[in-house]
Amino acid sequence: MKALIEKLKRAHSVAVFTGAGVSTLCGIPDFRGPQGLYKQPDAERMFDIDWFRRDPTIYYKGCMELVYGLKNFKPGPVHQAIVRLEQASLVKGVITQNIDMLHQKAGSKTVYEVHGSPMLHHCFGCGREKTFDEICAMLEKTAVPRCEQCGEAYKPDITFFGEMLPEKAFANSVALAQKADLMLVLGSSLTVHPAASLPPLTVRAGGELVIVNAQPTPLDDLAVRCYPDLAAFATAVLDAWA
Ligand SMILES: [Zn+2]
Repeated sequence: MKALIEKLKRAHSVAVFTGAGVSTLCGIPDFRGPQGLYKQPDAERMFDIDWFRRDPTIYYKGCMELVYGLKNFKPGPVHQAIVRLEQASLVKGVITQNIDMLHQKAGSKTVYEVHGSPMLHHCFGCGREKTFDEICAMLEKTAVPRCEQCGEAYKPDITFFGEMLPEKAFANSVALAQKADLMLVLGSSLTVHPAASLPPLTVRAGGELVIVNAQPTPLDDLAVRCYPDLAAFATAVLDAWA
């Protein structure tokens, strides 16, 4: 870990890429893990745009806890370590596959959510916008929050199956990855594409890749170093930039 801290201190532009491992450390269930959402029988339908169009109750019923319960979770040490590195002007941006909004809650300023986020919801009919908190308040009174203007359901800006990835977040992520002299992957198994195609962009542009993940990833061979322990990473960073 000492070598990684030295590497970070010498870096000029660090891009961070985070996945589910960062969230599970905070107690949030891994959508793709053994107990995760995708193992539930209705999971495929819950985040499928055609099913949402047909019947938004499938999403709202299935995700009541999973998405709207996110308001009860707090950022963990990895989120804080990233903020510390951002404040030290080392980290220029965070690319995240997570939809839990915890990087923003921790205080990260530049966050690109490549799988979208429930931070905003838009009416499926007319595009009217609501915040996460507004939708949470509506859910206390109704099973499916609907537009006051046109009566259609509000859909979270989470990227559903059958939808395009958020174009702007992805373009910004590509630019960030290409100009980084160090790409730090934290808690991602790097198996979900096209998000997993971002770290190689740094290497191709002449930067270095470091991966901190509990399990091996398909990109380990591209990395100059791999570490298994996210919690140890957070402790080392928080000590070095106390
Ligand atoms: Zn509407």
